[in-house]
Amino acid sequence: MPNVAALMERTLKSPFLDFVKEVGSEAAAKLAHSVQGVYLVGGQVRDLLLERHVYDIDLMVAGDARKLAAHLAQHRGGQVLAATVFGTVKLEVPGLSADIAMARRESYERPGALPRVEKGDPKEDLARRDYTINAMAIDLWPGRFGTLFDFYGGMRDITLKRLRVLHEQSFADDPTRILRGLRYEARLGFQFETRTAGLLTRDMHHLEAVSGPRIRSEVMRILREPTRAAALSRAEDLGVLAAIHPALRVPKRVAEAMAASAEGTEDLPYFVALMGAALTEEEARAVAARLDPPREWTELLLAGPSYRAISRLLEKPDLKPSEIVEVLSPFPTDALRAQLAVAPPTLQRERLNLYLSELRAVRQACTGDDLIAAGVPAGPLVGELLDELRRARLDGLLHSKIEEEAMVKRRLPILLARQGGEAGRS
Ligand code: ATP
Repeated sequence: MPNVAALMERTLKSPFLDFVKEVGSEAAAKLAHSVQGVYLVGGQVRDLLLERHVYDIDLMVAGDARKLAAHLAQHRGGQVLAATVFGTVKLEVPGLSADIAMARRESYERPGALPRVEKGDPKEDLARRDYTINAMAIDLWPGRFGTLFDFYGGMRDITLKRLRVLHEQSFADDPTRILRGLRYEARLGFQFETRTAGLLTRDMHHLEAVSGPRIRSEVMRILREPTRAAALSRAEDLGVLAAIHPALRVPKRVAEAMAASAEGTEDLPYFVALMGAALTEEEARAVAARLDPPREWTELLLAGPSYRAISRLLEKPDLKPSEIVEVLSPFPTDALRAQLAVAPPTLQRERLNLYLSELRAVRQACTGDDLIAAGVPAGPLVGELLDELRRARLDGLLHSKIEEEAMVKRRLPILLARQGGEAGRS
């Protein structure tokens, strides 16, 4: 078995390197009765072998993971956060955080269901993983430090830049691995190896059985990556999106807009809005029902078709700025940014741009209190007059607070008389 200690010395920055060295020596010296092995595992091993930066630490423990976490927290002056699912604990020590989990094995009762989890050994723990490149471990025990456990040819697949599942049933057991794979493919510039690609096609229909929140969480992870557009386009081309729901689509112009956004930007609401930008209302509702998202997502998805329903109003040549605001202000800003990215180069686009860059921020100078001080009775009239002032500002009819106050003085008797008339009639 190869030893990658020298690579670790070269690639891992402080404080990660000191930490991984110390974990094994502390466990061996102080906890040898309850911990038999500690391994760096999963994505960090992959990134280390790719000489990519490692940000977090995932540890697999043969033995008592909680005891090890508690000991390290005490030793390093950190804290153990509440145990998450399946008894994984999160350790936070100055400068880094680490997920620490006992080695476990998993079995699946039906496709798309959550696995049954039991205590296992390190080899079984690697056997439950998604791709060979994520199924390697590095021994951190003193005397064995740096030994690479690679039972499935992960290192070879890293060299060949390919994604390979560990067994025939992998995608059927957990179809979300398909979405994970698309994310890695785009991020790392890897490709599904031929047999894995065949299994993906064979088994992607199982995505239908996966719950909305699980799918959404993977989609969200894709959207957070700079290479989101490539991953989603590929998902579209392979029929993976349609397997999740036939209404879920990422057409070319949406993918292009996603690709054009600044690399690395984390702007989730905007990307969700882009996903809804080209859908019909029926499709957007179906996608929202399938993904079962928080209300904000549903609004962003549905904003696409609602916007398109009013978009022709924005093509009218003689539209005043206040009218543009009236049409666009009900929409979430992220939805309008998404529409701007996919709109045709017509008046509509110009107006979207004007609204987002200028009109949206235009306010009258007077406040409600100013109006009350000027004699406007507290009540709905205050809001009405403030709106009127804002519209007049937008349309360039007023330029200062003095002009606004003058307009209020002019309008007030008329509005009060109208109000009196309305009160008399009711
Ligand atoms: P990233 O760089 O995207 O964070 P990661 O590999 O660290 O990638 P995690 O989602 O944090 O990804 O998962 C940690 C490890 O757990 C993975 O490397 C993989 O070995 C395993 N894993 C996670 N999800 C699955 C899954 N659905 N099926 C099998 N193994 C999984």
